[in-house]
Amino acid sequence: MRKKIVAGNWKMNTLLGEGVELSKGVAAGLAAVPSDVKLVIAPPFTHLYAVADAIKGTSVSLGAQNCADQKSGAYTGEVSAAMLRSVNCEFVILGHSERREYYGENNDTLNRKMQLALENGLSPIFCVGEKLEEREAGRHFDVVGEQLRSVLFNLTAEQMASVVVAYEPVWAIGTGKTATASQAQEIHAFIRKTLREKFGALADEISILYGGSCKPSNAGELFSQPDIDGGLIGGASLKAGDFLEIAKSY
Ligand code: PEP
Repeated sequence: MRKKIVAGNWKMNTLLGEGVELSKGVAAGLAAVPSDVKLVIAPPFTHLYAVADAIKGTSVSLGAQNCADQKSGAYTGEVSAAMLRSVNCEFVILGHSERREYYGENNDTLNRKMQLALENGLSPIFCVGEKLEEREAGRHFDVVGEQLRSVLFNLTAEQMASVVVAYEPVWAIGTGKTATASQAQEIHAFIRKTLREKFGALADEISILYGGSCKPSNAGELFSQPDIDGGLIGGASLKAGDFLEIAKSY
């Protein structure tokens, strides 16, 4: 059985006090969320320690939005995978399109980050997704296939078992446009088929999340698709009520 996961990517939002309140709001609403749905919240680095404390003893898991591609040392401004683990992070988002686009992350950087995350006991939430022009040119399968092969195909099966994949069409992130449930299902099935080429039956155990303007009004339909195992939620994760509503729509 694949895990159902609803993960909130807070991006560069909230000040410390607001973030702690938001995390407490999520924890307080847990009782109404189906017990087989795992909630993950990924606040900014500065909030991790305090948020870890705020959700201690609950089933909400902590994630980070990025990690360094080096182990430790003279890398000013970076935060290592081991540091994230030391504040109780269980997940780390890697390969988000905003990091690929604005910070030049490429497959080389991502391969190093994936290895370090896994060596340190973190589960990477590895993001893939095509840009609008790539979809319009009918190249979305090629683009997503290449993103998967260039990074995930370098992992062992044991490593892959800890990875979560997030399909996030760039044209749907923060735009209010969502992939239709059938567009999302089609590419999620393609992602699973691609993973099967390298990992065989393990592909059926990997959670594949949808991300891109997912909100309470569309989550139910998306999550009812056979290859969609939850969501990576940006904007709507900044309100505890909306985030919980999304998780409840399973
Ligand atoms: C994201 O960037 O991971 C995301 C899914 O954002 P939004 O929900 O705001 O589109």
